[in-house]
Amino acid sequence: MSQSTLFAEDKTPQASTARLKKVLVPYPVDKAYSYGVPTDIEVEDGDYVTVPLGNREVPGVVWGDSDEDVPPKKLKDVIARYDLPPMSLAHRKFIDWTAHYNMAPKGFVMKMALSAPGALEPPKPVTGYCLPTWVMNLMAEEGTEKDKFLKNLSPQRRKVLDALQDGMPKRAAEIADMAGCTPSVVKGMADKELLEVTHIYSAAPCRAPQWEKQGVQLSEAQEAAADTMKEFVRDGQFHAALLDGVTGAGKTEVYFEAIAEALKNNKQVLLLLPEIALSNAFLERFKKRFGCAPALWHSHLATGQRKTTWRGVAEGETKVVVGARSALYLPYQDLGLIIIDEEHDPAYKQEDGVIYHARDMAIVRAHIGKFPILLVSATPSLETISNCWSGRYAHLHLPDRHGGARLPDMHIVDMKADKPDRQHFIAPPLVEALEANLEAGEQSLLFLNRRGYAPLTICRTCGHRMACPRCTAWLVEHKKRNRLECHHCGYFHQVPKTCPECDDVESFAACGPGVERIMEEVTALLPDARSIILASDMNDDPEQLKALLADIRAHKYDIVIGTQIIAKGHHFPKLTLVGVIDADLGLQGGDLRAAERTYQLLHQVAGRAGREGLPGRVYLQTFYPENKVMLALAGHERDTFLDVEAHEREMAHMPPYSRLAGIIVSGKDERQVLDVSKMLGQSAPHGEGIITLGPADAPFYRLRGNYRRRLLVRADKKLDVQKTLAHWIGNAKIPSTVRVYIDIDPQSFF
Ligand code: ADP
Ligand code: ZN
Repeated sequence: MSQSTLFAEDKTPQASTARLKKVLVPYPVDKAYSYGVPTDIEVEDGDYVTVPLGNREVPGVVWGDSDEDVPPKKLKDVIARYDLPPMSLAHRKFIDWTAHYNMAPKGFVMKMALSAPGALEPPKPVTGYCLPTWVMNLMAEEGTEKDKFLKNLSPQRRKVLDALQDGMPKRAAEIADMAGCTPSVVKGMADKELLEVTHIYSAAPCRAPQWEKQGVQLSEAQEAAADTMKEFVRDGQFHAALLDGVTGAGKTEVYFEAIAEALKNNKQVLLLLPEIALSNAFLERFKKRFGCAPALWHSHLATGQRKTTWRGVAEGETKVVVGARSALYLPYQDLGLIIIDEEHDPAYKQEDGVIYHARDMAIVRAHIGKFPILLVSATPSLETISNCWSGRYAHLHLPDRHGGARLPDMHIVDMKADKPDRQHFIAPPLVEALEANLEAGEQSLLFLNRRGYAPLTICRTCGHRMACPRCTAWLVEHKKRNRLECHHCGYFHQVPKTCPECDDVESFAACGPGVERIMEEVTALLPDARSIILASDMNDDPEQLKALLADIRAHKYDIVIGTQIIAKGHHFPKLTLVGVIDADLGLQGGDLRAAERTYQLLHQVAGRAGREGLPGRVYLQTFYPENKVMLALAGHERDTFLDVEAHEREMAHMPPYSRLAGIIVSGKDERQVLDVSKMLGQSAPHGEGIITLGPADAPFYRLRGNYRRRLLVRADKKLDVQKTLAHWIGNAKIPSTVRVYIDIDPQSFF
């Protein structure tokens, strides 16, 4: 990402006298439309308003004066203004910038900012109940009056009074819950005027975090990093910094100090996490440090919570938001710090709707808002580390695990030499290590990033492979659910009794392992061990997953078999052994970042081992023991790995030393998709500092029933690639039944 193309100086927003205003609506439109402003409505830029659009009334945000010449007959007026502070100028610029950079319709980006429909309306109160003054007074006394009063009440009603003793109004359901009765008891008491009916408004979350509270006593290195960040926060300018240190080095403690400093300066803070719905342990830590929970923002939030949080953020009441990538587009009143934990995580890239990279966009947001951003990782992305090398980002380094805990011992298991038994997947050295660890009463983790039982089902008689009818993908057997599933489109069917090709009976063979199959093997090997699978499809029910994670922390399981969901941020005190079943898995395929990603993921998985005094051991099962990724992991040589990787990318003119843009042509009609991609290929940009590769079939040539072809543009970073693309694709005649997606800085190439 380059920041040289950023914005003109801020101008202070002010109420304007112009009677024609531009309004940006949250629909896929490219520009803000002009509307008249009736004399009885006062609007300023950034105000939330209602405007007519077609024959509907829709919300929008005032986007500046309009000098458009709209014929009076066509001109429509703003209908009303919402009672909210205007969206900040910084945020409006950010929306414009996001749309321009990612080549997305402006209104589509606005939709991400107006992400809680209904939050624009003033919050509606819910009915609550409290004790009337005379009951309060009576209860405060001792004596016959009170005794008489209580004697005439049923035990249930007395419990209701108890529940309301603290004077706070509560909802009927809440009171009923506390008193162990039904809500009708509460309503009955209100009818008899034993309770008073009131309104309750839900308050914005995280209004008064206690920044004054003392954090832990920082080590020298931690303090140096924290001081730099605090300085950046006070400075009121854009700064980017990388907080770099192994898992357990105390990065969280350091950024808590930065958060405290921003709060002290009365700023709002945004913390992005890749797996937000799961971070119970993190939330506990936050509460302990700041005396209240942060406001959460992710896709599992209930509608009511979304509304209150959105409004709290827009009004500036909510101070700290912890969220997934979409939290970046909340309309902060006065944002003063962004922290991106696990900045290298691929989850920050949004692949549908507006295609954008939240880390890169966050840097732009900080730049526009003139405040610091902190990127946090034990395995920084090449993009970020190269910005440190060039001096654009400050590099804050924490050298050790806090308290001197050792890094785990790494063992490479050469799968060609140390073969597992036929139809087995755990090699002898790892089997031994598992047995010994169980004996020692410690916990083990087996990591395999593949859900289900087997990734491929094949007919032994005719060789037929079970494939998804809608995607270029094999169906994955899930034994527990007794079906074959496509992991790309959700298609599934029962495991058939006979081969659909040759009709042979019971001829199917499972090829390769998924976590279910590893579980089967572990159960056969160590029948006394308490084993459990933890896979990302459990993510659908965050509560169940949280409970499971708590059980694992409490050592209710000896062996955990997990997909990547286990790798992120969890801390299991008794876990001392990690076995990676297939360390080569991520290296297959032609992804530019395959080595980098594999290194990051396996490093993170390895980091689960031995975090509390007990030394950890990691076994990597690989067919390529000499691969640079394995060697770097085994030798704890991250920086050497990054140097080599950077050198290779530079030689190949690949990011971060150039810019890529992916063009995906997709549609139901194969002929049309071929024609459009061919036509785009013929007019593709080629020239000084820019080339186009393709068109070629996408690795997923079919996905959800669509045919897909790809082109890839590679350009020097100083070129205005958006302009070139807009010209090229904007001038192409594309039938409405074919979609052309543009993916700037693509992270995946499927
Ligand atoms: P990271 O975010 O780098 O993985 P954490 O901040 O989670 O590291 O620190 C790991 C553990 O060590 C946590 O339990 C944390 O509270 C503790 N810790 C880190 N630094 C200190 C310190 N200076 N004093 C006391 N405990 C610390
Ligand atoms: Zn499919």
